[in-house]
Amino acid sequence: MTITKNNLERLKNEIFKGKDLEWKAAQNLGPVFQFAETSQAWYSNRKGTDIIYVQPKSPENAIATCYGCGSNVLGMEQAVTGWSYSGPGPCAGTGVRTRFVRYCPKCEVEPRSYDIEFTP
Ligand SMILES: [Zn+2]
Repeated sequence: MTITKNNLERLKNEIFKGKDLEWKAAQNLGPVFQFAETSQAWYSNRKGTDIIYVQPKSPENAIATCYGCGSNVLGMEQAVTGWSYSGPGPCAGTGVRTRFVRYCPKCEVEPRSYDIEFTP
């Protein structure tokens, strides 16, 4: 398994010609992701990590790949149980929803099939 380090630095130099990337919030990927784009592709980064997914803008159904190792990025559904501290009682469940999670099968550990989210 080869894990390439400094993907963010390499992306900046190779694709953005040394310019600092203008990261934007990635609403559809959730708050842990940010993205930058060129005319060719979207680059999404899991904040605080060196993991970057490349989504070509064409063809429309192009498969996202991992910038670090080139593997096809996989996706899975994760069941998220919500808990809230507000309201009467110590802690109340706010229900279960699903969210789509992307990951690189080589550079990342497969995510759990569930997660827990606490809101104040
Ligand atoms: Zn990878």
